Amino acid sequence: MLRDEDRIFTNLYGFESPFLDGAKARGDWSGTKEILDLGRDKIIDLVKESGLRGRGGAGFSTGMKWSFMPKTSNGPVYLVVNADEGEPGTCKDREIMRHDPHKLIEGCLIAGFAIGATATYIYIRGEFYYEAANVQRAIDEAYASGLIGKNACGSGYDHDVYLHLGAGAYICGEETALIESLEGKKGQPRNKPPFPAMAGLYSRPTTVNNVESIAVVPTILRRGASWFANLGRPKNSGTKLFCVSGHVNQPATVEEEMGIPLKELIEKHCGGVRGGWDNLLAIIPGGSSVPLLPKEICDTVLMDFDSLRDVRSGLGTAAVIVMDKSTDIVKAIARLSKFYMHESCGQCTPCREGTGWMWRVMERLVKGQAHVEEIDMLLDVTKQVEGHTICALGDAAAWPIQGLMRHFRPEVERRILEYRTRADRGARVAAE
Ligand code: SF4
Repeated sequence: MLRDEDRIFTNLYGFESPFLDGAKARGDWSGTKEILDLGRDKIIDLVKESGLRGRGGAGFSTGMKWSFMPKTSNGPVYLVVNADEGEPGTCKDREIMRHDPHKLIEGCLIAGFAIGATATYIYIRGEFYYEAANVQRAIDEAYASGLIGKNACGSGYDHDVYLHLGAGAYICGEETALIESLEGKKGQPRNKPPFPAMAGLYSRPTTVNNVESIAVVPTILRRGASWFANLGRPKNSGTKLFCVSGHVNQPATVEEEMGIPLKELIEKHCGGVRGGWDNLLAIIPGGSSVPLLPKEICDTVLMDFDSLRDVRSGLGTAAVIVMDKSTDIVKAIARLSKFYMHESCGQCTPCREGTGWMWRVMERLVKGQAHVEEIDMLLDVTKQVEGHTICALGDAAAWPIQGLMRHFRPEVERRILEYRTRADRGARVAAE
């Protein structure tokens, strides 16, 4: 279990002021100039050494991503912060922006400096009204105190930070759709390459990072890369915000070490599963886009990128959705299929057509109104969608269904059999 002194987000629950006075009392903005004085290359090296992997879902090395940015540029370069937190079950960036916005703003300055950016754009989910108000106030405070803007922190480096509100589309959480939206266009993902590091916002070199990834950077650099690297497990270092929802006694967002056992996370921080651990049916461990896990795997699995990949799921956004035995598991996954169909931007055929196709079959499977052979046909469609689309929404629509069939196929078949038996009986009665 994470020691109190190793927590980064010490105001996660908002017991203290989120604004500059409170932030400074918690150690934010302390020695920021000295961090910038280390220079771009050194900061990137330290972030690489810390082992920080992106907290938005993909888990790619943050320092490595920064190193893809050009060393020199003849025009503007941008840092874009993805604060469009829309993955079902995820509520961690919301807490950072609501209760600790200065960690994010200081992180923008340092990360922006490391990649040679002239400005940061924070793209925040439109529904996050209170969070946006707090972030904007933190930005205003940082400008007024000389922490950002011209000669930020007295470093000689100029860096502006802008806040932009989205308009409620899930797909704008995809980095290139977000960039399109920021440019004032319809939020649709771009084909890659070119990657944003080559041609991103306004066709300029751009790095897009998640809120949590940026907000932990100042503390890593203040406390040392090895401090962060020694928390968690090899290649899965540091602390992480986990958002636990569903059938637990106390849903919560908590900061823990990477690699904490899933069972311990739920028992220690969330008061356990409703009705006890034996009442657990399944858990989606990383937001709705990753495959669910049945209880037998949840008993022992660790919460980090590699452990969850090894059991054919994923850490994703670390949004843990707990389902007890009262859950209609087929209906729950059908509901996710409907979500992805609704949120598909419609740009590529496998996703546009496939998400609707998958949802319609899932709806029939909920009632058992299908043939057993359709299960394999449905799985075949998920394979046709997975990996054949412009962005990862296609994969996200396919994986929950694959997870359902991997672990709960007998339940799906049972419904079909039951429906057939009822239909046959009805036909016999009608004939008599
Ligand atoms: Fe749009 Fe879906 Fe294609 Fe992504 S995969 S670009 S959401 S149609």
